[in-house]
Amino acid sequence: MTEPTPTKVDMEKIVSLCQRRGFIFPSSEIYGGLSSCWDYGPLGVELKQNIKQAWWQAVVQQRDDMVGMDTSILMHPQTWAASGHLEGFSDPLVECKSCHLRWRADELKGDSCPSCSGELTEPRQFNLMFKTFMGPIEEEASIVYLRPETAQGMFVNFLNVLDTTRKKLPFGIAQIGKSFRNEITTGNFIFRSREFEQMEIEFFVKPGTDKEWFNYWLEERFNWYVKLGIKKENLKLRQHMKHELAHYALDCYDIDYLFPMGWAELEGIANRGDYDLSQHAKFSGKSLDYFDEDTKEHFIPYIIEPSAGVDRSALAFICDAYDEEPDKEGIRVLLHLHPSLAPYKVAVLPLSRRENLVAAAKKVYADLRQSWMVSYDDAQSIGRRYRRQDEIGTPFCVTVDFQSLEDEQVTIRERDTMNQIRVPINTLKTTLAAKLSGEELFVLPPGGKIWKE
Ligand code: ATP
Repeated sequence: MTEPTPTKVDMEKIVSLCQRRGFIFPSSEIYGGLSSCWDYGPLGVELKQNIKQAWWQAVVQQRDDMVGMDTSILMHPQTWAASGHLEGFSDPLVECKSCHLRWRADELKGDSCPSCSGELTEPRQFNLMFKTFMGPIEEEASIVYLRPETAQGMFVNFLNVLDTTRKKLPFGIAQIGKSFRNEITTGNFIFRSREFEQMEIEFFVKPGTDKEWFNYWLEERFNWYVKLGIKKENLKLRQHMKHELAHYALDCYDIDYLFPMGWAELEGIANRGDYDLSQHAKFSGKSLDYFDEDTKEHFIPYIIEPSAGVDRSALAFICDAYDEEPDKEGIRVLLHLHPSLAPYKVAVLPLSRRENLVAAAKKVYADLRQSWMVSYDDAQSIGRRYRRQDEIGTPFCVTVDFQSLEDEQVTIRERDTMNQIRVPINTLKTTLAAKLSGEELFVLPPGGKIWKE
């Protein structure tokens, strides 16, 4: 059998859809935008929330060996000395002597400026952490940093979690939050920005069991994307080569996705050994040992870290869901988003703006909103309205027509197949709940029927 060819979509189409429909806008756009910062609009915020919720459910809620945290963005400056970020969290920067543009030396193909072919300076290490001052005095002693990863907040709370939850190894902490990196080069839409959101797990294990847990998390995290609809052929695991590994990492894999600009990292999974807890023990003077009651041993746990980006996930989910199909009116653009990720689960569409029809449709709308994010649209032809919902990934449209006023039934139309069924209004909510959890459209509730216009 031949391997299926991964499909790449055009980034311009994705950016245009995101902006046109209110998923993502450039930050402070009325002032010309702020380079590499993005605002999530009404649909984008729903998608992002849904991604975070799906992650939280999978890694915290549905497991008994994980707990969550929400730690602060500003941390004690010693954190960054202990973690190695003050010393080593840098990229090699070169500057063009003619046009003064700056580049990451390790990303350049040749040895001259890619913009004007000018001569470049010698590389110097540029620290990627944003610095700011805490309190009203701007002096060396009050420097703090915006965290470049959420991980450290979990390492420094290892004892607190251990003491308050009485968890035993192996167990993990999960956190979702903003991180900041003063990246030298940004771009590819929300792929690399200076302010972004991460979903990170720190999983503490007994040394010697680390390889097994590392492999476990590789599989678990890869499958999470597949379960949420990403095509397997657009994902791959890539092991870091020796020279790419951080000095403390025992092993590291990236889950790469075939983004419009090519394969690139979606999530990194590292076996960090005992580096983090040893460093924080050394710098804080507090013992971060774990006492194993069964074997009566003291040791520093090893850490397996799956670290994902919310924004990169959002981009991957949108790119993977994007589709164009020829139809009567030209092209039907649709997002095959997994129902749990779709911003709206349902759209309620009255066939016309006739008063009695609107009243009936509004009643259905009010009822469904108690359970899901639901859209209501009564502008233009029904065909147009279906297309508008397809383009933003709404899995189901509910149409209220004149017959509904007589038979108390409505039509449910499915996004991907455009198939329709007719169901009694009093079964609508349970029917939609079943369909959103994956039930076949043509499995009908009592009184329901397959519908052909
Ligand atoms: P890259 O090499 O692409 O800059 P990285 O290896 O530095 O990424 P990690 O430090 O492993 O990234 O961070 C974990 C995850 O956080 C990444 O897989 C990515 O999803 C996300 N991430 C990191 N940096 C950024 C950024 N500048 N913008 C958006 N997401 C990011």
